Amino acid sequence: MEQTFIILKPSAIKRSLVGDVITRFQRKGLFISGIKMMQLDEAILRVHYAHLVDRPFFPSLVKSMTSTPVIVMVLKGNDAVAVVRSMVGATNCRAAAPGTIRGDFGMSGQENIVHASDSPENAIIEINRFFSPEEVFDYPMLTQAAIYAPDEV
Ligand code: UDP
Ligand code: MG
Repeated sequence: MEQTFIILKPSAIKRSLVGDVITRFQRKGLFISGIKMMQLDEAILRVHYAHLVDRPFFPSLVKSMTSTPVIVMVLKGNDAVAVVRSMVGATNCRAAAPGTIRGDFGMSGQENIVHASDSPENAIIEINRFFSPEEVFDYPMLTQAAIYAPDEV
């Protein structure tokens, strides 16, 4: 099964949306393979958001992303990267469709509740950036037989 990487951003922490967001992923049928709280710093953000370091909003993004600890997660499921990106919605919460996490919980382009990997290749890179191997668990998923047909797993 595919794994993807999630950050519950400071906007989720400050607004006490951690449970609501995790509940959505669990109800969908995604499995939690890893989860922890950590404090980000500018160094890791310059790597994680390398595609944005030259943008004018980057200092503001770093200030936001370091303003509280975050919760990082590894979620597992068939096509987990694409499934989670569709659940998260468009980058700007005001443009994100109702029913998505950003569409339902936010009003900002920056304070947009969650990060989710945008490709399977980046998911592997991001999981290795934020988790050590022993922090990602492979354990029996007892609901799997109810979530998937036998030929899907
Ligand atoms: N961001 C921002 N202003 C912008 C574009 C992005 O503040 O104009 C922030 C926002 O928090 C976003 C993050 O930078 O989630 C990463 O941007 P990306 O384009 O990778 O969007 P995402 O993959 O998070 O939808
Ligand atoms: Mg992105």
